[in-house]
Amino acid sequence: MKKIWSILFVLMIVLLAGCTNEEENQGETDQEEQEMEQTEEPEVDNTEEQEETNNDADDQTESEDSTDENKEATDEEQPEQEVVQEEETVEPQYELNTTNWSLEPIGDAPENVVLLTIDDVPDKYALEMAKTLESLDAPAIFFVNGHFLETDEQKEMLKEIHEMGFPIGNHTYTHQKLDDVSEDKQKEEILSLSEKIEEIIGEKPVFFRAPHGVNTDFARQLVQDEGMLLMNWTYGYDYFTPYMDAEKLTEAMVTGEGPEVDVPYSLLKPGANLLMHDREWTNEALEDIVKGLRENGYEMLDPALIKTTK
Ligand SMILES: [Zn+2]
Repeated sequence: MKKIWSILFVLMIVLLAGCTNEEENQGETDQEEQEMEQTEEPEVDNTEEQEETNNDADDQTESEDSTDENKEATDEEQPEQEVVQEEETVEPQYELNTTNWSLEPIGDAPENVVLLTIDDVPDKYALEMAKTLESLDAPAIFFVNGHFLETDEQKEMLKEIHEMGFPIGNHTYTHQKLDDVSEDKQKEEILSLSEKIEEIIGEKPVFFRAPHGVNTDFARQLVQDEGMLLMNWTYGYDYFTPYMDAEKLTEAMVTGEGPEVDVPYSLLKPGANLLMHDREWTNEALEDIVKGLRENGYEMLDPALIKTTK
């Protein structure tokens, strides 16, 4: 009998101990809840709680267990960082002079810069040109046409150029000279290309350049309404027959002089807006053009620093 009583006694102790543990556990759960409600808990515990919360966020667990409090804790920390980052990247440092199409520094941004632009993209050489520029750490705007964006291969080229960090500009769908056509047609030329660009790279263009630099009042207003910055250029030589040659083109672009097309003086000035095209000789000359401009004291302007209407 004594044995039985002993066994019962031991069992009771075990049961009691179990109840106590449950109570303790219950107590801890209550404490955790209280901690989450940020009551009067020791700071050390809160820190641990926060660290866990952050780890959970880092692991990106989709567990339903993560409480609203956890989400609030992570949400509270993020907005401040985002705001700071946005301010850093969006701040414009150059403004387009809409009379002569050069880029002027805002405040104390360096003056000796030139903007590189490549038009009629992506025909045959644009991707190679983008790779050359990327290897030289030289930014540029690529102005594209819709008729070069029909096949999957062409669309893929545009994506690649964009993913290398080059802004994509609107140069009309079919390279239409705008003053030759109706307002409806001008609208179609501009809007259908912006839509196509967005379909391919996920964002609308913020720069516009009219074919042959010919703008109409209607197109100007439309481009502005669409949130794009319209620009022509200050100089370019690769579309003149005497400069359809890599060596001659390099000389003309680097000095700014085109004596064979009645430009015996230099157009290379601070903020110059340089026009080039997706052409064989320009592709061949591109590296030397960038290096030559640098030797002459000019750095390539990052288009992301240009003040746009957006
Ligand atoms: Zn063009």
